[in-house]
Amino acid sequence: MNTKEKDLKYIMHTYGRYDVALAKGKGAVVYDEDGKRYIDVASGIGVNSLGFCDDGWVKAVTEQASTIQHMSNYFYCEQASTLAERLCTLTGLSKVCFGNSGAEANECAIKIARKYSFDKYGEGRNEIITLKNSFHGRTVTTLAATGQDVFHNYFFPFTEGFKYVEAGDMDALKNAVTDKTCAVMFEVIQGEGGVNILDKAYVQELVSYCQSRDILVIIDEVQTGVGRTGNLFAHQNYEVLPDLMTVAKGIGGGLPIGLCMCGEKLKDVMSPSTHGTTFGANPVVCAGANYVLDRVTTDGFLDEVEQKGAYLEEKLLSLDSVKSVRRMGLMVGIEIEGNAHDIAVKCVENGLIIITAKNLLRMLPPLVITNEEIDEAVQILNKTLKENT
Ligand SMILES: *Cc1c(COP(=O)(O)O)cnc(C)c1O
Repeated sequence: MNTKEKDLKYIMHTYGRYDVALAKGKGAVVYDEDGKRYIDVASGIGVNSLGFCDDGWVKAVTEQASTIQHMSNYFYCEQASTLAERLCTLTGLSKVCFGNSGAEANECAIKIARKYSFDKYGEGRNEIITLKNSFHGRTVTTLAATGQDVFHNYFFPFTEGFKYVEAGDMDALKNAVTDKTCAVMFEVIQGEGGVNILDKAYVQELVSYCQSRDILVIIDEVQTGVGRTGNLFAHQNYEVLPDLMTVAKGIGGGLPIGLCMCGEKLKDVMSPSTHGTTFGANPVVCAGANYVLDRVTTDGFLDEVEQKGAYLEEKLLSLDSVKSVRRMGLMVGIEIEGNAHDIAVKCVENGLIIITAKNLLRMLPPLVITNEEIDEAVQILNKTLKENT
């Protein structure tokens, strides 16, 4: 059996896959098992922030793998403590709790928010308000946190205590707040929900409203974090500081990691045995993340992310079938005529790896993509749009 046949026979069918088996890559270029070449503007789903197999990243990870590959969380780990220190210094937040995925990071944030409220106010103040069109993960609780009805199916009963309000509507939020509200959780740019960029004034008002009521602000930066939007974290573009922030996808550069950070007020909420993970804070994964941070914080790197994003946007807007572009840094949603999923499938056939969000094409290119590669990507997209609309 070939790769596809084995997959279809032995792997549960939770994803509709493109009809391609990827085999190896470098930077923004990847090859399938037949040696066909593709330009990649998806980075997995915003995971390979330095592209495929960046030399420095490979070295950091392989050196760590041949030094010590795992220890339990009952021991101090140099790579994890260094990563935590750097993240706190770079964000102004105070502490990190490690895990392995975005959903897990969000579970951690939800637990911290509820425990803070329980410790301070007693039982019952446990409601969390999230936004319609959000996406927070696939566990039973993070599905409940996700403000889209399509995700609230089959797996009943879902975790209680979530309420959803329209993004951008401050009155709706105020109306939803009760004396049971302990936190508000949102993405500043809704990625899966269609690259919806929240308004700056709204986010600032929301944060100050919540702070004045001791309602915790949880910002889900799983997709927007680590340079994606041209700042290290997207909330920095909004000049706010969350009480809790979750990070995953791009920070590992391709290895599984999720983490939850909290501010000063919450730094002692969690105590031994209130949370844990066997694999979290893995030294190999943290070595990769430390290397990603090295690169992303190099002088000029984030400016280049914004410049490349602006360059890409300009090219996209020059195409006839592109109706509009939503973008911050290299997080890009493209409104087109026609069915985005069908177009994405055709793009892949034509050698461009691209993803969708709702009925938009979505690009989350590796942050190291070059202008020449952007040109090539846009050219393939243009050709595909011409053939199919
Ligand atoms: C992808 C994503 C998640 C879930 O992350 P996993 O690693 O798949 O669990 C949560 N929140 C946002 C905003 C995401 O984009």
